[in-house]
This record gives sequence, structure tokens and C-alpha cells, in this order.
Amino acid sequence: MTDASTGGVLIVAEIAATGEMRPSSLELVTAGRQLAEATGGALTALVLGAAPEEAGRALQAAGVDRVLLVGDDRLGSPSAEATATAAVAAIRAVDPVVVLLTGTTAGRDAAPKVAARLAAPLAADCVGLRFDNGSLVATRAVMGGRAQTEVRLQGQPQMVTVRSGSFARPEADVGKGTIEPFPVEFGPADFAVVVEETTSKGGGATRLDTSEVVVSGGRGLKEPANFGLVEELAAALGGAVGATRAVVDAGWRPHHEQIGQTGRTVAPKLYVAVGISGAVQHNVGMQGSTSIVAINRDPDAPIFKVAQFGIVGDLFEILPALTAEIAATRG
Ligand SMILES: Cc1cc2nc3c(=O)[nH]c(=O)nc-3n(C[C@H](O)[C@H](O)[C@H](O)COP(=O)(O)OP(=O)(O)OC[C@H]3O[C@@H](n4cnc5c(N)ncnc54)[C@H](O)[C@@H]3O)c2cc1C
Repeated sequence: MTDASTGGVLIVAEIAATGEMRPSSLELVTAGRQLAEATGGALTALVLGAAPEEAGRALQAAGVDRVLLVGDDRLGSPSAEATATAAVAAIRAVDPVVVLLTGTTAGRDAAPKVAARLAAPLAADCVGLRFDNGSLVATRAVMGGRAQTEVRLQGQPQMVTVRSGSFARPEADVGKGTIEPFPVEFGPADFAVVVEETTSKGGGATRLDTSEVVVSGGRGLKEPANFGLVEELAAALGGAVGATRAVVDAGWRPHHEQIGQTGRTVAPKLYVAVGISGAVQHNVGMQGSTSIVAINRDPDAPIFKVAQFGIVGDLFEILPALTAEIAATRG
């Protein structure tokens, strides 16, 4: 383990309303680990909550060298101001070269507040990171994913928010790092805004973020009722259901299932694209998947350019056979 007292990389982790660590925070561990090695420093994580201990243990198990816990009853509801105050205190204590925050609503809310208070450079919504010649080079997708731009940050700390799904989640580690309380003095302004209620449109969005398998359907399914074929394959694989914007706009599927530039970014181990042409705006939301399987009757469909495995044929014949075979194999 590297010296965990100062320098290196600090990640600001985020706890979901359910009390669990958000998957996007674990993705920060992967990104942070690589950068910490490049900077020659340690990987430190800051986690806030009414009871952040379990999340702290998850970060430790994921391979963080030093976990700083900020526990306060008032942190039971998310506060961007309080997150920023704690992050500034941690940055002053740890003096990291790089600070990573999630690209979620909460991360995007807190990051500019931290950057403004420290006059630090911030690159938002990054999909790739590397440390080069003493500074961070962040890759950002632009023009709807048609192009990527690299920005070099200078000064210290160098801050980024990371788009969800851009890095894989780490395997659980043996967890040799330390966990320690990190007292922070909050002021009334840190809790001037109180989130009274959070409503969810269902568990689908969370499932998409955490599932190792995602089966997505597109306009090739012809009508909403045929999405049952996608749901059955997803169920056989123990995965979640996604969709293209075309079918979301048509009202076949809810918006929280939309994958792509104007939807969610996912990076499961297996992504199955069914009746999806493979427009760049869709691909940008799933091209970080470990394996992509495409089922399309058009051999020239662009989806086959990003897929490792392609099945050319009629999905109405292929899907029932595939689902039956998988269900039989998995018992
Ligand atoms: C600013 C902007 C943002 C956008 N954001 C997003 C986004 O976030 N996510 C997104 O998905 N899109 C997005 N789009 C839309 C995107 O450009 C495409 O229009 C959309 O992804 C196409 O959806 P699709 O693949 O379902 O439909 P289509 O392009 O119509 O493709 C349907 C496919 O199904 C195949 N097919 C048909 N019948 C069968 C069959 N029987 N068996 C097998 N295959 C069959 C066809 O060969 C075809 O390839 C965006 C567009 C813009 C301009």
C-alpha cells in the first residue's frame, strides 16, 4: 500500500437514498486506482451520510487505501452544500493531486461548488482519464458522441466529474485500507436546502445501473407488446431491460430505460441489442460494455460495427429460441 496520508487521488463517494453505495461511486474507485498509481500517491475516499459506515466498508473492500467517514444525522438527506464543505475540508487535509466526483445529479451539483471555493480547474462529464506529465488529461464526449475531446487540467487539485458507466466496477478486494472518522464543522448554510421527499419511477433505472446484463430493444420489435420477448430474454439472463430513444419517444417504454446520449450510460458485462440499428447517439451509452451482442436482420446495420458478436436474422425467430435455450441451460 502507498502512503495514504497526503497527495494521490481523492474520490467523493455518494450514498443512495437506500443507504447503499452508488455503483457510480465504485466506478470512481477503478478510475481513482489507476490515477493514484500514476501519481505515485494513495487513493482516499470521502463518504458522507447519517450512517456511512457500511458504505465505507464497501469502499475499503473495493481497494481504497484510506476511507474518511463524515457521519451526521443531517446528512440523511442529500445536501450539495454540505458535500462541498466536507470535500473542501478533505482536500485541505489530504492535498490530493486529483479529485473525482460522480457524474450523477448530486456529483454535478457539488463539484462546481468545490471548484469555485478552491479556484480549482474542473472538467465535467468525463469518459476517460489519464495522468500525463504531471497533469490530468480528461476525455469528454462531444457532438453527441461523434467526437471526443481531450482537456488537460493544470493546478492542484485537478477536478473531474465522471460519467456513470465509463469505468468498470472493481472486484471486491481484501480491503487492507483504513477507515477513520473525519469530523467536519458544518454551518447553517450547509443545510439551508432540505430534500423532503424523493420519488422514483420504479426500480428499472437502478437495475440498469447495477445489472451485469442489459438486454435492450429497438424499433425492430415493431410494437410495444413485442417487448415481452426482450423482457423474457432479460429475465432468463438475470438482466435489466433497456431501450432506444425511438421506442421511448413512441411511448413503448419509459424514459428511465433509454440508453444513449440523452438517456443513461451503462457498462454491463453483457449488452444485447435487439432490433437496434446502432445510431451513434445510442452506442455512446453502451459502448463501454464488456461484450456487445447484436441481433438484427440487416447485415449492414451499424450496430455490428460496435458488437463483438452478431446474429443476422429475424429477431422474432431468434429471441424465443435463444431465451428457451438459455433458460434450459441455466435450469
Ligand atoms: C440529439 C439526439 C439525441 C439522441 N439520443 C438518443 C439516445 O439517447 N438513445 C437512442 O437510442 N437514440 C437517440 N437518438 C436517436 C438515434 O439517432 C436513432 O434514431 C435511434 O437510436 C434509432 O432507434 P432504433 O435503433 O430503435 O430504430 P431504427 O434506427 O429504426 O432501427 C431499427 C432496427 O431494427 C432492425 N429490424 C427491423 N426488423 C427486424 C427484425 N424482424 N429482426 C431483427 N432486426 C430487425 C432494422 O434492421 C433496424 O436496424 C438521438 C437522436 C438525436 C438527434
